[in-house]
Amino acid sequence: MACIIDGKALSGKIKKNLRVDIKELKERNVFPGLAVVLAGDDPASKIYVSNKEKACQELGIHSKVYRLNSDTNQAEVMNLIEKLNNDSKIHGILVQLPLPGHIVEKEVIEAIDPKKDVDCFHPENVGRMLSGNGRMFPCTPAGVMEMLKEYEIEIVGKDAVVIGKSNIVGKPMAAMLLNAGATVTVCHSRTKDLKAHCEKADILVSAAGKAGLITADMIKSGAAVIDVGINRSEDGKIIGDVDFEKVKDVAGAITPVPGGVGPMTIAMLVKNTILATKILSL
Ligand code: NAP
Repeated sequence: MACIIDGKALSGKIKKNLRVDIKELKERNVFPGLAVVLAGDDPASKIYVSNKEKACQELGIHSKVYRLNSDTNQAEVMNLIEKLNNDSKIHGILVQLPLPGHIVEKEVIEAIDPKKDVDCFHPENVGRMLSGNGRMFPCTPAGVMEMLKEYEIEIVGKDAVVIGKSNIVGKPMAAMLLNAGATVTVCHSRTKDLKAHCEKADILVSAAGKAGLITADMIKSGAAVIDVGINRSEDGKIIGDVDFEKVKDVAGAITPVPGGVGPMTIAMLVKNTILATKILSL
């Protein structure tokens, strides 16, 4: 039976440490501030934004959500980003993706001051991360790396397989594992034999968003299995990509969904906001 990687507990521990940093900053009259831009009414985005807001409130970070209608235009979004870039009370800017289809996301992300880019999607921050010179790291992969560290899962020289090649999760995850010394394979929807790749993985990270994609017969005995996927089962429950009940009997360590990567993503967002505050203010 695998060790269950408890993302909820670890995120609590990280937030506890961040409270100390926040207190120290406040003693110097520096009050960390996060702005979240939410455009449109995607139900999942609304839930994610409210969870991020709650985490900030819990830790005493000033946070403000800017809600724009789904028919907002490019100029309106760009003007808001410019305003937030120039707002000294705001240290982190997060644009909740996806934006409505008519908004050019790339232009919006590139307009964010890289020092305030707490999601780490700006090309400058992506380049820094790739070259192993990152200041901040994308929240979800950064959360996965924290879990591997906390549970003393060896990375150097290990075979890691990442399923998914999005700019938000898959690609930065692969880059971070590579920089940490793993031999990395990235799989996606056009990969010919997913099972053959997964079977070789010492560390398997699934970020496909497909319930039931990863079954026990794909897992190397003792592997660390990290489930990033968030899906809804037919009965409305939140589930990952991995068949948790069966895979836990083969894997060495495994993250549950919920209670795994999700809470870590939020903790890393707060961590990045504090880092950005320090970069901008100290
Ligand atoms: P995305 O942009 O839709 O990317 C999904 C990736 O998975 C794509 O690269 C796709 O391949 C690949 N894929 C899809 N079906 C596949 C299959 N059958 N076999 C192999 N690869 C397959 O999604 P994302 O934004 O990266 O998010 C991935 C999942 O993680 C979603 O469920 C999302 O909700 C979740 N998520 C969770 C957190 C968290 O905090 N827990 C944070 C972010 C995202 P192609 O590129 O070839 O299409």
